[in-house]
Amino acid sequence: MSLTKTTCPYCGVGCGVLAGADGTIQGDPDHPANFGRLCSKGSALGQTIDLEGRLLQPQIGGRNAGWDKALDLMAEKFSTAIRDHGPDSVAFYVSGQLLTEDYYVANKLMKGFIGSANIDTNSRLCMASSVAGHKRAFGTDTVPGTYADLEEADLIVLVGSNLAWCHPVLHQRIAAAKEARPNMRVVNIDPRNTATSALVDLHLRIVPDGDIALFNGLLAYLANTGALDLAYLSDHVAGQVPAITQARLDDPSESGLSQDELSRFYEMWAGTQKVVTVYSQGVNQSRCGTGKVNAILNCHLATGRIGKPGCGPFSVTGQPNAMGGREVGGMANMLANHLDIENPDHRARVQDFWQSPTICRRAGLKAVELFEACAAGKIKALWVMSTNPAVSMPDADGVANAISNVPFVVVSDIMARTDTGDLADVLLPATGWGEKDGTVTNSERRISRQRAFLSAPEQARPDWQIICDVADRMGWKNAFDFASPAEIFAEYVALSMATMDFGRDLDLSIFADADYANLIPTQWPCNDKRFFGSGRFYHPDGKARMLPVSAPELGAGDTFILNTGRNRDQWHTMTRSGKAPRLGAHLAEPYGEIHPEDAAHIGITAGDLIELSSPNGTSTVRALITERTAKRQLFAPMHWTRQQSSAGWVNNLATSVVDPASGQPASKSNQVTARKFDAK
Ligand code: SF4
Repeated sequence: MSLTKTTCPYCGVGCGVLAGADGTIQGDPDHPANFGRLCSKGSALGQTIDLEGRLLQPQIGGRNAGWDKALDLMAEKFSTAIRDHGPDSVAFYVSGQLLTEDYYVANKLMKGFIGSANIDTNSRLCMASSVAGHKRAFGTDTVPGTYADLEEADLIVLVGSNLAWCHPVLHQRIAAAKEARPNMRVVNIDPRNTATSALVDLHLRIVPDGDIALFNGLLAYLANTGALDLAYLSDHVAGQVPAITQARLDDPSESGLSQDELSRFYEMWAGTQKVVTVYSQGVNQSRCGTGKVNAILNCHLATGRIGKPGCGPFSVTGQPNAMGGREVGGMANMLANHLDIENPDHRARVQDFWQSPTICRRAGLKAVELFEACAAGKIKALWVMSTNPAVSMPDADGVANAISNVPFVVVSDIMARTDTGDLADVLLPATGWGEKDGTVTNSERRISRQRAFLSAPEQARPDWQIICDVADRMGWKNAFDFASPAEIFAEYVALSMATMDFGRDLDLSIFADADYANLIPTQWPCNDKRFFGSGRFYHPDGKARMLPVSAPELGAGDTFILNTGRNRDQWHTMTRSGKAPRLGAHLAEPYGEIHPEDAAHIGITAGDLIELSSPNGTSTVRALITERTAKRQLFAPMHWTRQQSSAGWVNNLATSVVDPASGQPASKSNQVTARKFDAK
């Protein structure tokens, strides 16, 4: 059987896969992300491509309806809402699972034709704080790191990142590099003792949100010991004086680490030139996530440890196409090609390029705000694509109620029954992985093809086609008259080239003459393979910015801090990974990790059920008593949904407190109470 070269649909590592219609799955030895490696999830993809539970027909009000009826109704309802209540009365909520071409046309429709920026994405829950931090420091949302840097570094600092479970092939690459280069050291900064800790030379168990105190302490140490790169600062960085002054005000012991631990880490960092700092959700999902990102970036900028091989800050993305979504303006506060909504020149250029009748004039509603607007009755028509906010958003019951409050709700999905789909007026069957064609961009900005190797089942259609069909019916046929994802990609590349004179980083000219069908995985930018190698950044003066950030007050209450996250073998709400028996065998039921002293204090013994409560709701999970989780902290996986385990799903406990700069929810530090479950 011939195998098709495609890309894994799970995490942001973006591994190349060779896939066959009979379920054969192999790692692609030629793909530069994984060189043939796959993790447990990727290698089980063949068990997930059956049609059980699939949505195969468009439905209106729970009954099968043809595409024409469903699309006509959508166009009418959205057009009526826009006419009667204005463009901001409609909203799209999309997903890092969408392909770049899907994302591009969804943004074009909302921002250039409807004229609102009310399109946000579940990537808001994943890496919005990194986006905001990058923009503040670099002038654009630019991720300078590459996977090769990880293998070349002499010191890798992992912050809030359980790579062993969440980016397993990157973890494998680091492990292999460490074996080959015994002098390479790895530090893990994480309140939990995760599977990643087995690899590392030093595990620093900071308190939740202790990151800013730790990195401000590092910056102060670098300044106090003469370890700053003064020439680099003078030529390439602004804002260092207030940043360093602020850093000196913070007490690094507020991170929860001992003086000995702090000294070891600071000496190691200061004494190593090739340092890569990798960070993900433990940094981003915080009420001070953007501050954490800038505290990390400050240390790299202050020492010139950026823009060189084996060096730099590196935010790794959670979802398969979180990066591609960022590139095409998939968030409510961005335009395509990393252009700014607030900049009138940027707006005018995009509108001119699209030849669109309008263009959004201000940032739209970010995810939490969007569902608050639904609850307040401000959104009259909502389209949710490829995601399940009724269980994945914080305060998920509140979000489900908010969606119920919207007069007209459309959900496009591959599955017939989801918690969000059950609230829809119209359900649209989308094609899934293996059936759809397009591109994704991984954490190191490498654009790879997802290719179809299965036929679209029954009535299922690709998301880009559904979006274009709706746009056509709303009167914008010419602008959405795409015959294939290749045509959409070509327009996106042309837009990047038409806006290059704004000095943005998104240069895709290498793709201008590329053969889409045979596109090989390619990293951008095209003209300078290493970002910031010249020391030039994207602020108007060409300099980066160090930002003064202050450590948050860490209140000590009598509640537990619940950290939600991923298991090794499941993905998000298990829509796909839940189909693979092999993956289900790893951790088969909802659980909560609790420290032995806390368990004893509330009368929990091994195997008991533990009831967790927050102001939003209650969840009952199996107690897993372990010192992996620190005292007064809990960890619970976020995979189980209301439909799968009505007692054991935990997103409902999560806080909708957000980082004010990024709008990202603080999903790692939910205040909950815990007690032994009493069945009576
Ligand atoms: Fe897929 Fe990520 Fe595993 Fe690679 S590491 S196979 S992209 S889940």
